[in-house]
Amino acid sequence: MGSMHLSGPLRGQHPMGNQGHPQSSMAGPPSSMSGPPSSMTGPQTNMQGPPHSMSGPPNMSGPPNSMSGPLSSMSGPPSSMSGPPSSMSGPPSSMAGPPSSMAGPPSSMAGPPNSMMGPPSSYGPPSGPHQMGGRGPPSGHAQQQMGGPPPSSMAGPPASSLPGPPSGFGPPSGPVGGPPQGASQMNMGPPSGPMNMGPPSGQMGMAQPGMNTSQNQYNYGGQQPGMPPLPGGQQPPMGGQFPPGPGQGQYMSGQTSPGYGQQNFNYGTNQGQRPMAQPPQKRLDPNQMPSPIQVIEDDKNNKSGIFQTQGRGIVPPLVTTDFTTQDQGNSNPRFLRSTMYNIPCTSDMMKSSQIPFGLTITPFARLHESEHPPPIMNLGEIGPVRCKRCKAYMNPYMQFIDGGRRFQCVFCGAATDVPQEYFNHLDHTGRRVDSYDRPELCLGSYEFVATKDYCKNGTLPNSPAFIFMIDVSYNSVKSGLVHLICQHLKDDVLVNLPREIGAEESEIQVGFVTYSKELHFYNVKSSLAQPQMLVVSDLEDVFVPLLDGFLVKLSESEAVIDSLLSQIPGMFADSRETEVVLGPVIQAGLDALKSADRAGKLFIFHTSLPIAEAPGKLKNRDDRKLLGTEKEKTILTPQGNFYTKLGQECVAAGCCVDLFLFPNSYMDLASMGEVPRLTGGNVYKYNYFQADLEGERFLSDLKKTVQRPIAFDAIMRVRTSTGIRPVDFYGNFYMSNTTDVELAAIDCDQAVTVDIKHDDKLNETEGAYIQVATLYTSVSGQRRLRIHNLSLNCCTQMADLFRNCELDTMINLMAKQAIRNVLNHNPKHVREEIMTQVSNILACYRKNCASPSSAGQLILPECMKLLPLYGNCILKSDGIQGGSDISTDDRSYLMLMINSMNVRASQVFFYPRLLPLHDLDEDGDSMPSAIRCSVDRLEENGVYLLENGVSMFMWIGHNASPEWIQNVFGVQSAAQVDIDKCTLLVLDTPTSKRVNGIIQKIRAERSRYMKLTVVRQRDKLEPWFNHFLVEDKGLSGSASYVDFLCHIHKEIRNLLS
Ligand SMILES: [Zn+2]
Repeated sequence: MGSMHLSGPLRGQHPMGNQGHPQSSMAGPPSSMSGPPSSMTGPQTNMQGPPHSMSGPPNMSGPPNSMSGPLSSMSGPPSSMSGPPSSMSGPPSSMAGPPSSMAGPPSSMAGPPNSMMGPPSSYGPPSGPHQMGGRGPPSGHAQQQMGGPPPSSMAGPPASSLPGPPSGFGPPSGPVGGPPQGASQMNMGPPSGPMNMGPPSGQMGMAQPGMNTSQNQYNYGGQQPGMPPLPGGQQPPMGGQFPPGPGQGQYMSGQTSPGYGQQNFNYGTNQGQRPMAQPPQKRLDPNQMPSPIQVIEDDKNNKSGIFQTQGRGIVPPLVTTDFTTQDQGNSNPRFLRSTMYNIPCTSDMMKSSQIPFGLTITPFARLHESEHPPPIMNLGEIGPVRCKRCKAYMNPYMQFIDGGRRFQCVFCGAATDVPQEYFNHLDHTGRRVDSYDRPELCLGSYEFVATKDYCKNGTLPNSPAFIFMIDVSYNSVKSGLVHLICQHLKDDVLVNLPREIGAEESEIQVGFVTYSKELHFYNVKSSLAQPQMLVVSDLEDVFVPLLDGFLVKLSESEAVIDSLLSQIPGMFADSRETEVVLGPVIQAGLDALKSADRAGKLFIFHTSLPIAEAPGKLKNRDDRKLLGTEKEKTILTPQGNFYTKLGQECVAAGCCVDLFLFPNSYMDLASMGEVPRLTGGNVYKYNYFQADLEGERFLSDLKKTVQRPIAFDAIMRVRTSTGIRPVDFYGNFYMSNTTDVELAAIDCDQAVTVDIKHDDKLNETEGAYIQVATLYTSVSGQRRLRIHNLSLNCCTQMADLFRNCELDTMINLMAKQAIRNVLNHNPKHVREEIMTQVSNILACYRKNCASPSSAGQLILPECMKLLPLYGNCILKSDGIQGGSDISTDDRSYLMLMINSMNVRASQVFFYPRLLPLHDLDEDGDSMPSAIRCSVDRLEENGVYLLENGVSMFMWIGHNASPEWIQNVFGVQSAAQVDIDKCTLLVLDTPTSKRVNGIIQKIRAERSRYMKLTVVRQRDKLEPWFNHFLVEDKGLSGSASYVDFLCHIHKEIRNLLS
C-alpha cells in the first residue's frame, strides 16, 4: 500500500513513522487523487528517481526533492542520502542558490551579501524531511556545512536601499540631516516664497474679535505690524478666544444662530495686499491655531461616560473619548460612524457644501468591556422578517399598520404582510406590544440566525479552518523564523483560536503546510503516531494531496501537531533553497478549504519575491525613484493580474489570506498584496527579520490576529432611505456587482467605508435611515446576519449641516479616496483634490454660516476646525504622498493598511499621539496629557513617547534628567542607552514601571504591536522621528500646519471673491 498507490505528484512520506496508519490514510486517497489528471504525468516521471527529478528544470533540489525518490530511497537515510548529492550535480547553478537567485532581484534590493546567503555548495540537500518518523535528527546528514552561524553581517540589516527601519518602516535612506529648510522644495512654500499661497506676513496683530461671542477668532497678520505678539493670550483676539474654553463650541444641535460654534481667524490681510517680500518668519502663533489636543480634551470632558443612542442624528463622542454606548435604537458608533448626522435635503445643498457624505463601518468592532454584544435571535424556519421590495431587515423604524398585520418599510415605503408567526398586537401608540422583547424592534444592532436560504447551495456551512503555511527556505530558516513559529504556534497561538462566547473550545480546524519551491502537506490525523508529509512538486495546477487528516481540531490532534511542530525546524535546518513560490501556496490553501467545504483563513509566512518558476512568479521591477512622481502608480499597481484573479477566486470560496512578510529586499507587495486586499486579509511586514530581535513583535501580531473576533465568508449590503444611495466602497474586499461587498473574512479591526450620494430629495420630518446587513459564518460555523441601523436627521440649513459633522470619519473617508486616486491619477492630482475640498468646504461655511466679518478672517466651523490640519496630515502621510524616502513595499504596505482602517485607527495614524514621559505622576495610572505634534513642543530636558498605531518612538532630549534615564534604562546617560534594543527593560523603579505600563496600555489599544524605537535628540534617527511631528514642515518639503492654513485661507478668499 502506501506510496505505491501514490501516483502523480504525491510523494508519500512513509518514514514518518507508523507505517500502518499512514498507509491507510493514504490508501484512500481523495477522489481528486484517484485519477491523476494528465498534468500529473509529468511530475510522475520526475519522481522515478533522483536523477530524473534533478533534471527537471524547475526542480531545485531542495530537501523535499530527496523525497521524490522511489519509496525505497525514502525508507532509509543512507539511500536518500545518496540521492541528494548527485542531485546537486543536476542544477548546479541553482544550487549555488543564494548568489544566483539573488541576482534575480535588482541590485537595488541588495539583499544580504552573498556570503550571508550562500549555503555551502559542496553538499547535497539535507535529507531532513525524511526524518519525520523520528529516525533521528536530520542534523546527522548535512548539517555540517549549514550549521555555521551566519556571518556577522547577517546580524544587521545590510546596507542596502531597503532601509532597516526601526519601526517597521525604513527611516529615510536619503540624506537625513536636519529638517530641510529650503523653501524651494516645498510644495507650498511659505507665503513669502515664490509660492503664491501666503497671506500677508507680518507680526501678530490685533484684530477685531468676532461679533458672535461663541465664535473663535484667530487673528494674525499685519494689520498692526508694530504690535509685538502678546504673551499670555489675555487679549481677546489673540488667545482669549482660543482655544475655546469649556462651554464654547459645544455640540448643541438646535442652535440656529449662524456663526455659533465657529472659529474666526483674522489675518490682517489688508484685502489682497501681498507683502511677498516679507521674510518667512512666523506670522501665526501656533498656540492660536485650532489644536487637536484641545478638541480631544474638550470632547473627553463633555462626552465621556454613557452615550445613549436614542433619537435621530446624534453626533457621537469622538473616537478618542472613553464612552460606553447604550443601544437605544441606533448602532454603537464603534460599528457605524457617519461623516454627517444632518443630511442636506437636496443634492444641490449637498454639492455646494462639498462635505463628503460617507459611512465607516466596522461591523464586528470590539466593544467596550461594559457594552453588550448584539443579541442573537433565532426565528426558526421563518427566518428574519424583511421588506418585500427592498429586502431591508426588520428594525425599530419599520411602521406597523393595519393593526399589526403589515409593516411599512422605512427605506422604500413598501408595505409588507407580517408573517403569521411574527404577528403581534399594537398598543394605543401604534407600537407593537412586544417592542421591548424583540431586539430588532428596539435596538440598533442585533443578529439573526440565518436559515438555509442564506447559505451557499442551500446547505448550512461547516466550521471554518485556519491553515498555517510556512516558508522554509534558507532565509526563513536562517532568520530563526521557522524555529520561532514552530516553537510558539501551538502553545501560544493555537490555544487561543477564536470561539463562540461561552464555548469551551474553538470549532476552528487547523492545517499545516511548509514550502519553498515545493509544497509539503502534513497529515496530522489524531490516530497517527507521527505526522506524515506529502510533497507536491507539480505547481502548475496544484491541489491538496490529502483531505482526511489535513484539517483537524486542535484538541483532537494535539499530540501529532506537537510532534510535527517539533520536527519541522530540524527537517529544514539545512535548507539551501533560496527561491520560493507564492502563487501555488495560496492556490493550495484555497483548494484545501474548497475540498473541505469550509471557509477560513490562510496564514502565510513568507520571505521573498516569488521568483521560482511557477504560477504567480514575479519579476523585480522596483524603482523607488518613481515614488512621488507621475509614474509612481506603475509600481504601486500589480504587475499582471495573477494575484488579482487569485484573490477573486479566494473570495468566492470564503478563503481569506493574511500575509506575514519577512523581506530582506523588494517583494512586490503591490502585486502579492492583491490577495489580502481582495480577501479582507491583513499584511504584516518585518524588514530584515531576526527572531531574537523582532520575535516578540511578530508573535504578538500573530497571536492577536489569530485570536481576534472574526467573521467568515461575509457579504455586506448597505441599504439607505430613498433619496440617498451608496455609490462607492473603500476597503479590503471584493465586489462582483455594484451593491454587495464580498469579504472572505472581516475581523474586528477592519472597516469598510462607503461613499453615499444624493439622488432625490429627502424630507426633514422623515429623516434618513441606513441599514448595514452583514451575512457571515461565525467562528463555530453558524450562518448569521448582523444588522446595524442608524437614523440621521435631514436639514435645509447649512448651519445645521456644519454643526453635525464628524471630522474623524470624514478624514477616514478622504484618506481612502486619496489612496484610490493615487492608483488612478498622480500625486499632484491627489494633493489638489484634498486642498480643493478643504477650501471649498470652509468657503461654503464662510459664505453661508459665518457672521459678517472682515475678509481677512478665516472662520472655521467648530466641528471642523481641525479640517485644515487633518487634511494636511493626509497629504503628509507616507502612504498617500510618500516620496522615495520609504521603500516601494513600505508604501504599498501603508496603502493597504489605510485602506481598511477604522476611524479610531485613522485618527491616531494621521495625527500621532505625543506624550511627555519626563514628569509622570508616578502614583497614577492614567495616561499623561498629550501634546501637539511639533518640534516646538519638545523640551531638551524632556522625554516623549510618540505613537500612531503603526510606529512608536521614545525621544530623549539632550538634557534629559540623568536620574530619569537611570530609572528607566539603568544606565547613567542617554548616550549609554542601547537604542538597537527593541524592548524596554522593566526595572524595579516607579518610573520604569510607570513608563512600561503606559507603553503596554498603548499597545493593547492598537491592532498591531508597535516596536519601540528609541531616538536621542540630535541622533541620526531624529529626522525620522521628526517626520511624525505632523504640524511641522516635512522632510520632503510638505507644508507645516501654519503654512497649510495660510494657503487654505488664501484659497478661501479666492473662492469668495
Ligand atoms: Zn423596503
